[in-house]
Amino acid sequence: MSGVIAENLAKVKQQLAEALIRSGRGEDDCELLVVSKTWPAEVVAEVIDAGHRAFGENKVQEGMEKIPSLPQGVRWHLIGHLQRNKVRKALPLFGTLHGIDSLKLARYTSNLAVELGCHPDVYLQVNLAGEERKSGFSPDDLRRELEELDGLDGLNVLGLMCIPPAVACPEDARPWFARLRELRDELESTSGLSLPGLSMGMSGDYEAAIEEGSTIVRVGSAIFGARNYAV
Ligand SMILES: *Cc1c(COP(=O)(O)O)cnc(C)c1O
Repeated sequence: MSGVIAENLAKVKQQLAEALIRSGRGEDDCELLVVSKTWPAEVVAEVIDAGHRAFGENKVQEGMEKIPSLPQGVRWHLIGHLQRNKVRKALPLFGTLHGIDSLKLARYTSNLAVELGCHPDVYLQVNLAGEERKSGFSPDDLRRELEELDGLDGLNVLGLMCIPPAVACPEDARPWFARLRELRDELESTSGLSLPGLSMGMSGDYEAAIEEGSTIVRVGSAIFGARNYAV
């Protein structure tokens, strides 16, 4: 593995561990999802060789090209918005979906999952700031729809996911992370359901996210360097 990627990976793991200790949480309480979108299979293979097993992609097409050429035994997560016409292709590849953002999509994905014999883990994406450009459930949608979502046969709802509005520094993202946790706590106490998962935190702000309760951080550029979307 390129020395730089190995060093970056070690550094992120170290900072993740320190953030957990700082917040009085256990060392296994937050998972590192390495976001490999835009990086070729050869580069990802080096991180797999180094022992990492959980990767995130945001495009089904890219996953279809990359995943079959890489070793088995890797857990692939789809982190982006899932288009309805890609669900059938996504399900056999991705065991975890972070971008389920409406009841309609959840029902449709659940039905196909049952048909295909898959049972993906799911994080419900929440649009906390009500941003028009972002998809996601509003908090009120979830208050109304959580019970039906949780009851869908084909999906295993683990919890909530958010991408906070763009902010100038990581500390500005912290209130959004806190709000996702508080929404989770509220939904758990009103519904009696268990939503242990909080998918929040990226390269610029994962330490703040962990301190606010993240159980899985999605980190790409802090490990691989800046992405080049043109390639
Ligand atoms: C690309 C992406 C990430 C990783 O972003 P970095 O800033 O490179 O860590 C995390 N989550 C989602 C949903 C993404 O699309």
